Amino acid sequence: MIKQKLKLIKEGKLTAEHNIRDYIEKIRKENPEMNIVLHINENAIEQAVELDKKIKQGEAGKLAGLGFLVKSVINVEGLICNCSSRVLENYKATYNATVIEKLLEEDAIVLGMVNCDEFACGATGEHSAFGVCKNPRSPKRVPGGSSSGSAAGVTAGFCDFSLGSDTGGSIRNPASHCGIVGFKPSYGKVSRYGLIDLAMSFDQIGPLAENIEDCRIVFDVIKGRDSRDTVTMDFKEKKNKKKISIGVPKINADEKIWKKIRGEIGRVCKENSWTWKDIEIKHIDLGIQTYYPIVYTEFFSGTRKFDGRKYGFKIEDACGEEVLRRILGGKEITKAEYAGRYYRKALAVRKILKQEFEKAFKKFDVLVMPTVPKLPHQIGEKISVEENYMYDACTVLANICEIPAISVPAGEIDGIPVGIQILAEKGEDDFLLDVAGEFEK
Ligand code: GLN
Repeated sequence: MIKQKLKLIKEGKLTAEHNIRDYIEKIRKENPEMNIVLHINENAIEQAVELDKKIKQGEAGKLAGLGFLVKSVINVEGLICNCSSRVLENYKATYNATVIEKLLEEDAIVLGMVNCDEFACGATGEHSAFGVCKNPRSPKRVPGGSSSGSAAGVTAGFCDFSLGSDTGGSIRNPASHCGIVGFKPSYGKVSRYGLIDLAMSFDQIGPLAENIEDCRIVFDVIKGRDSRDTVTMDFKEKKNKKKISIGVPKINADEKIWKKIRGEIGRVCKENSWTWKDIEIKHIDLGIQTYYPIVYTEFFSGTRKFDGRKYGFKIEDACGEEVLRRILGGKEITKAEYAGRYYRKALAVRKILKQEFEKAFKKFDVLVMPTVPKLPHQIGEKISVEENYMYDACTVLANICEIPAISVPAGEIDGIPVGIQILAEKGEDDFLLDVAGEFEK
């Protein structure tokens, strides 16, 4: 879609103004019902008018005229970036995140900032201080999270693509529930500079879009080494292989979902003469127990800057329940007398899981499993904290292991979209996108 649209814009058959105006009008009209966009970029149309001059002179960038939405945890200069929290309710960003800088350099236009779970803490979109947004594909169900608005915004046709952040699944989970593609790159591929962090050793920014090709176009622009984020690096050349072997790890998920996933694996293997095999990855069921102590600890540490002096309100005074749970939990488990019992143990298990996945990638090119182990619940339905955390069981693994992972639509169950998740070795992001392409057809 993006490719065709860029062609139209380049040939003068569609102006940037027209594209952007259409989106802004649609958002103004439909958003009150959907609650996807928190803040519209009031200058977007004006920026598009200026851009059209540049396009006419043939001087515009690679993404000239496209409109995108940004999760409200990524700084866009001049726009309110409140992390869907009362804590930062009126906080206006004073600078651009590296990913934003790169997209603006290529002349894409920010349409607005979108809803998410507060400080990206959540898997359903229900933890926003400004209310959950609607899932356009299944209006009674949660859209997934935490990048709820980024996914719902694409599905609702509010943008050409969007940006989300993924600490333990927040790009892939809502992409799965909203029936679109969500891509979490390898840790270190995309700069986190300008991202308000949830857990710095897991966080990655990535694209959400209607299809894989669109995600790749955006990824190619935002990736790369950045001196302002020291974990970013240049990775080796892409793996190039035609005959793919797929490992299918044993992991707990709904019967119906597994059936769907297996059907897709069978189809793709048959069409391409690829092979697949059931495998057991040791300790794969410890993802949640490993992920949360690390998140609690890093989040607690990261939020100490929100003490009410420099930005907004003191976080403990103004945040919601889920954020408070993590702050108090993080404070508790990092106490000196517990040294080593939780955080260090989680780090030790993280290391073991990384090794187990490395072993698996010695035998298989990619791993395939469900994105989310259960269907999204109904908005308003009460579920326990434990159940809530179980939504993340299949996605946290990629963050724990720092590897790239993508969710691609795999059809519907009872009218609700379901995603299939494909994972590759660290640094093999392009290879992963190639392989995932076969699942999209
Ligand atoms: N649901 C997970 C959590 O609450 C993941 C969130 C995310 O990826 N930002 O931590």
